[in-house]
Amino acid sequence: MFDRSAYPQAMLAEVAALLAEVDAEIAARQPVCRASGKCCKFEEYGHRLYVTGAELALFARQLDAPPDSATHRSMPIQTAPPRPMVSLPQFFSSDAPRGCPYQIDGLCTAREARPLGCRIYFCDERTTLWQNDLYERFHTRLTELHQQHAAPYAYVEWRAGLRSLIDAAPI
Ligand code: SF4
Repeated sequence: MFDRSAYPQAMLAEVAALLAEVDAEIAARQPVCRASGKCCKFEEYGHRLYVTGAELALFARQLDAPPDSATHRSMPIQTAPPRPMVSLPQFFSSDAPRGCPYQIDGLCTAREARPLGCRIYFCDERTTLWQNDLYERFHTRLTELHQQHAAPYAYVEWRAGLRSLIDAAPI
């Protein structure tokens, strides 16, 4: 079971700031998203998403937050996500779960909480020029944050990480 208490709030705030920095760098490069949904259909397109422990803890905290919490009040109203209830136990009740449980009708329903790899991956061919370098640079900083906060470093496949959140105690 994932131990969310191992990732302190101060650390998660730094992770959220880092992800906002990533978003700004990506926006400046103006990649094209055609909403094809390819990025989240791992089996169909032969790629895998990996996340660190801190990203997983932040994801869990943001999804737990009720819509009127401080986390959501701090968002501009137009970016507040519709939050369909996705049951992780139901998703994992399948023998071979495919894709991501948060992708619905080709769109991500967890955009504000999504991890680094989700933000950087685009199927726009021009992005291959910078995707890897950007990922490595910010992943190195995430690794360093684990060290600075003496938090356990984990690097796990996305669905394995989500599965570990089931029954994990809230932060
Ligand atoms: S969290 Fe969102 S962007 Fe990331 S894999 Fe799931 S649906 Fe795709």
